[in-house]
Amino acid sequence: MTVTVLTGAGISTESGIPDYRGPNGLWRADPEQERLVTYHHYMGSAEIRRRSWLFRRDSPAWDAEPNAAHRALATLPDAWIITQNVDGLHRRAGSPQDRVLELHGNMFGAVCTSCGADSTTLEAVERIMAGEDDPACRACGGILKTATVMFGQSLDQGVLSRAVEAAGNCEVFVAVGTSLQVRPAATLVSIAAEAGARVVIVNGEPTAYDHMADEVIHDPIGVAVPRLCAALTA
Ligand code: ZN
Repeated sequence: MTVTVLTGAGISTESGIPDYRGPNGLWRADPEQERLVTYHHYMGSAEIRRRSWLFRRDSPAWDAEPNAAHRALATLPDAWIITQNVDGLHRRAGSPQDRVLELHGNMFGAVCTSCGADSTTLEAVERIMAGEDDPACRACGGILKTATVMFGQSLDQGVLSRAVEAAGNCEVFVAVGTSLQVRPAATLVSIAAEAGARVVIVNGEPTAYDHMADEVIHDPIGVAVPRLCAALTA
């Protein structure tokens, strides 16, 4: 059985990573914080960039461990894992790197916005802690940023097209811990449903796509996903 999974912030809250966009999310509580991950604010201000690196430094993702749901998904043979999360927990849970599609990138990588050179968030944070205000690309002097998709940026088209293909070519499509309010990730549910996949939605709250689902599960994700994965591999 071919399975494609879409995960959102809700799968990582049990690993201690808050849902920044959710009903009680940081972005809603503090619009100033949202500026730190909004592309034009970031590119336009060295002070925003410095605060943005420090915000990443303080992320709970550095110390977070994959939970039972991440681990259960890693046991699904040949599944595609499409995630809106930047916390790297699917790979750390054992999902093969080439089967994880990170729609919003990864916070541990860094990239130069001018020449595209890869580096790491850790290195940029260490340069700030060593006294640099605005660490620039060592190759070309350009502005560095995390390898994440900030507000105001487009998704990586290569990653997105692979996600669309995975959604359209599966027998079972499972959406976990996502409110399905952010396009185009939410559209993947429609693509899977229209292609004839069995659609399962696991989320604490109702979503706008529940009517397309064959099954909607509101149980805690750390319980529901291992149970579902056991049934899918039985
Ligand atoms: Zn560069």
